[in-house]
Amino acid sequence: MNTTKKILVVVERSENSIKPFVFEAIHAARLLANSLGGTVHVLCFGLETSMVSCFVGWGADHVRILQNPLFGSITLEQALESIEPQINAEKPYAVFFSATTRGKELSASLSARLNTSLATDCVAIEIGETGEILVQRPVYAGKALSNLILKGTGPHILSLRQNIFRGSGPDFSREGKIESIDIKIPEDRLVLKIQDVVREAGSQLDVTEARVIVSGGLGMQNPENFKLLEKLAQVLHGAVGASRPVVDNGWRSYSNQIGQTGRTVQPDLYIACGISGAVQHLAGMSAAKCIVAINKDANAPIFSVADYGIVGDALEILPSLTEEFRRVLGSLD
Ligand SMILES: Cc1cc2nc3c(=O)[nH]c(=O)nc-3n(C[C@H](O)[C@H](O)[C@H](O)COP(=O)(O)OP(=O)(O)OC[C@H]3O[C@@H](n4cnc5c(N)ncnc54)[C@H](O)[C@@H]3O)c2cc1C
Repeated sequence: MNTTKKILVVVERSENSIKPFVFEAIHAARLLANSLGGTVHVLCFGLETSMVSCFVGWGADHVRILQNPLFGSITLEQALESIEPQINAEKPYAVFFSATTRGKELSASLSARLNTSLATDCVAIEIGETGEILVQRPVYAGKALSNLILKGTGPHILSLRQNIFRGSGPDFSREGKIESIDIKIPEDRLVLKIQDVVREAGSQLDVTEARVIVSGGLGMQNPENFKLLEKLAQVLHGAVGASRPVVDNGWRSYSNQIGQTGRTVQPDLYIACGISGAVQHLAGMSAAKCIVAINKDANAPIFSVADYGIVGDALEILPSLTEEFRRVLGSLD
């Protein structure tokens, strides 16, 4: 009997580039497959073969590119209609998604369709003594970690938190198979069709992908002062984040919001400027590897999670901090 276990990674389509979280998911799948003596299969939509060849280096044994004219801007339904038959045919032991907004939506919808187990936002994955998948994921807005055992034959569906499963880089000596196949999606199964996509002007690096986030709260006092955060973020090659009232006031877009009702992030460095540190904000960023807080109030709760704290006026401190980082890092404007 062939008992080789397949780990399938579903790659989210992004415009003209492969996002780092894709490599993280393939790397995590490789580690799991190594523990199981299994293989890693990657499924992607409408990409060029030249764009996916690096997936093999990151650990894929087999890459399948599904082609359909609709994949220019793929909807949730189109993705589900394309993935489900592949899973039914391939019978993977586990299916990995990245825990992006789309990845969470897809993984949850797919597990409901297949009536199978789902673990979202996983931060650790390993194989237990008796061969089942053990998963760790944050619960209660990051205040606790829950350990799950995924029992049964699968397919177990997992979404992986970004910036966790980074790996040291691709191994270009690896060999794998890449194939591209045309697929049909029955029109009568689709209720939505994307007519047009309007992108946010000057859109910056996504906060969930950034390794450095410079975030501002109401203490920044007005939207113009966010330019100070943008300058520092630029020097540090990071993204600008914001607290919820900043977004509610219309100073920044919702895509910048960090916290319980915004994005959950886990960067290497999080610089919180004029943010009090309400529990709802901490829920989205307290797992950052290093937290620096700048606040006028020495008793602000943000200092209880900060690795480094500066008590003072962010509007005065930020220009000097930016200048010093620029000098040390030798960065350009
Ligand atoms: C259901 C629910 C969900 C929520 N979800 C979120 C969420 O996702 N994300 C989120 O952020 N919040 C969320 N909130 C709101 C949250 O409770 C807080 O109200 C919010 O985080 C506070 O934002 P803030 O820190 O920017 O403002 P404030 O709490 O007003 O803090 C401003 C801080 O700036 C400091 N300050 C003032 N001037 C300066 C200066 N010149 N230099 C330095 N420091 C200065 C002050 O000392 C103060 O600590 C949610 C609330 C609820 C009820």
